[in-house]
Amino acid sequence: MKRLLNFVLIIAFLLSSFFPVLMVKAETISDLRRKLELIEQEEKENRDKIHLTESEIKNTKAGISQIYIDMDNISKEIRNKEQEIIELNQLIEDKDAETKELMKSLQLTTGGSFYLEYIFGADDITDLIYRYSITEQLTRHNTDLINEMNDTIELNERKKVELANKRVELNRKQDRLAVQLNSLSNTKEKLYEQERELEDEIKNSRAVIQMYIDAGCGEYEKINVCANRLLPPDTRFFRPLMRGYVTSEFGGRISPITGKYQIHEAIDVSSSERLNARVFAVANGRVAKIFYDIFGGNQIVLHHNINGITYSSSYAHLHSVHVKEGQTVTRDTVIGMMGSTGIYTTGPHVHLAISRGLRYTDYVSYTDYVAMSFNPRNVINFPPFRQKWHDRVTRY
Ligand SMILES: [Zn+2]
Repeated sequence: MKRLLNFVLIIAFLLSSFFPVLMVKAETISDLRRKLELIEQEEKENRDKIHLTESEIKNTKAGISQIYIDMDNISKEIRNKEQEIIELNQLIEDKDAETKELMKSLQLTTGGSFYLEYIFGADDITDLIYRYSITEQLTRHNTDLINEMNDTIELNERKKVELANKRVELNRKQDRLAVQLNSLSNTKEKLYEQERELEDEIKNSRAVIQMYIDAGCGEYEKINVCANRLLPPDTRFFRPLMRGYVTSEFGGRISPITGKYQIHEAIDVSSSERLNARVFAVANGRVAKIFYDIFGGNQIVLHHNINGITYSSSYAHLHSVHVKEGQTVTRDTVIGMMGSTGIYTTGPHVHLAISRGLRYTDYVSYTDYVAMSFNPRNVINFPPFRQKWHDRVTRY
């Protein structure tokens, strides 16, 4: 068992000496400025898109209005054609009546059946031809007129159908434009939303850059190194409970929950105060993360700068959390109450892990975090296993 533990610790040591180099995000103020420029460029393009969309919306609206006017004109034209047809029909009727009247009068002048008289009983063939030709001319003239008018009616009817088709086509076009307008409006809304997000991002990026400048970071200095100056410094760690005792040590152990051999990357401390035990920050620092997971329940991760070296302290199974992410804490800040949340617990206790580097800044994965963790006894003076302490400072 001891050999295995040694092996695990050696691996952990090797990982911890490798990963800081590999995992660190090499970002400088200069990198941040380049990123900001990209966002600003994106914002500019977005603004151009907004202008373009707005002018397209304007054009589409104008198109729709023009179609209203065109359709109105077409309707008027159709009505005119209909009126013309009515008038022509009236004219045809009149002409028809006129022709009939003419023939009747010619018949009447010769006193009876005009054609028969000339064909079968005319005294004079010249007279017959003369009369016949006049009648012919007059009736032909009227027939031509009627035919002409009928042609015009036919033309008007065709024109009417054409116009009606055009009106249907315009109606369709208008529907298409309405759909287009709707989609353009949606696009515009999305672009405006994006614009607000980009503006926020620009504002935040500028504030972050200013924050690092104020912290004295150089243009090409690694931010995760210089940002430590923003952490309220401390010189040592303190016990997280006013009163208490160690219930489980750091290192390989048979898990009381799973019954299997596991690395316990923390030390467990408890107190007879149970849910009334206040949990303190182990040193001055800042709240890096607050989260819940099914195993460790409510958890807080703090960042510390102890004599210029960065550390993270993690607290699990908390009954309640009294701080917010980003908040600066001192070693006297009550960050939460001891509890038994999550499934990896058999009663109220604090699972306290201390790791090197800034957890969630320098590294994120659980494996990296475990590799960076070390025995809190190395930096916090706890009395021997199960032996009680009564304040946060007395040395044992
Ligand atoms: Zn634990």
